Amino acid sequence: MKPFAYVRAHSVEEATAAHAGRPGARYLAGGTNLVDLMKLGVETPDLLVDISRLPLDDIQEQADGSLRVGATVRGTDLAAHPLVRARYAAVSRALLSGASGQLRNTATTGGNLLQRTRCPYFQDVSKPCNKREPGSGCGARDGVHRDHAVLGHSLHCIATHPSDLAVALAALDADVALHGPDGERTVPVAEFHRLPGDHPEQDTVVRPGELITAVTLPAATGGLPSAYRKARDRASYAFALASVAAVLDLDTAGAVRHVGLSFGGLAHRPWRARRAEAALLGAAPTTAALVHALDEELSAAEPLRDNAYKIELAHNLARTVLTDLARTTRTARHT
Ligand SMILES: Cc1cc2nc3c(=O)[nH]c(=O)nc-3n(C[C@H](O)[C@H](O)[C@H](O)COP(=O)(O)OP(=O)(O)OC[C@H]3O[C@@H](n4cnc5c(N)ncnc54)[C@H](O)[C@@H]3O)c2cc1C
Ligand code: SF4
Repeated sequence: MKPFAYVRAHSVEEATAAHAGRPGARYLAGGTNLVDLMKLGVETPDLLVDISRLPLDDIQEQADGSLRVGATVRGTDLAAHPLVRARYAAVSRALLSGASGQLRNTATTGGNLLQRTRCPYFQDVSKPCNKREPGSGCGARDGVHRDHAVLGHSLHCIATHPSDLAVALAALDADVALHGPDGERTVPVAEFHRLPGDHPEQDTVVRPGELITAVTLPAATGGLPSAYRKARDRASYAFALASVAAVLDLDTAGAVRHVGLSFGGLAHRPWRARRAEAALLGAAPTTAALVHALDEELSAAEPLRDNAYKIELAHNLARTVLTDLARTTRTARHT
């Protein structure tokens, strides 16, 4: 491992000041992704700014009913929090479907959103990869790409984003709060990760030196039925082949009043299914309506040689999740 300097930050300002103007600096939270990539030689920081002791480890209900989750809140604590379980079930389910208990005890909320792709060519420095080394090519496109993207990919990169949590947060309209050299700003989670385009090396819209300080779950989606379902090769320790997060509300006539739907494992970012949502709004969520809406969304898919199976998999997952949520809502109305 390349030698690096280390500093522990005691405040948000101290952390961003230590990072400012140093392209080779990285924030260190739980270290469960960053340190692995340093051991592989994929990440070679010259400075680690340890943010694990910053006072960002609280989950607080705000006056407007939203829930502010500090960036260093651990996965275990977020998944188990009573207000998260009661109001944002998809978040809890997404976290519990990822990694292992030990990893969730260490991995943080901010680090989870900023974890890098699990594309094996990205993790192997002997292989070409435009994300790791711009201009070197994409080993996966003509190589092994069964796990790769079917939506929103480019000639330069076909990687998927691995976070389960981000998929649930995108469906629930959560925001990310950032603190950086230019001050504070907020970005919707659904717009936080980038499609690869010509610059796959940029995973997100985070600017140099910016620190995630919190994620906010809005009051508006709190308490609505929500769910997360993930298809993977093994029951644990496996990233999503495809996953679905959804939140659904019906009016008294049984028509869709609100729907948030996002897919994981299909694209370079959580894929917010805006076309399917538009097709469902105001309609009764019958099987025919769901099939039509999901066809609308997934017709944009451009499968590669080995991953067309993901389209049907995602279709089936979404139909099941939305059907279950509709049933839950109707049952709740009649009890
Ligand atoms: C075996 C294994 C299985 C896994 N399975 C899953 C899975 O199924 N689903 C899933 O979603 N995840 C899975 N993970 C990934 C795991 O969730 C991530 O490694 C973890 O969430 C990263 O959090 P961290 O706090 O350890 O981040 P770190 O490793 O400390 O940091 C990751 C990146 O984020 C940056 N960073 C961290 N915090 C901030 C911040 N507040 N502001 C700005 N930058 C920041 C760091 O500089 C670094 O670039 C798995 C990991 C392993 C090792
Ligand atoms: S898919 Fe993206 S991350 Fe994987 S090898 Fe190609 S450029 Fe690299």
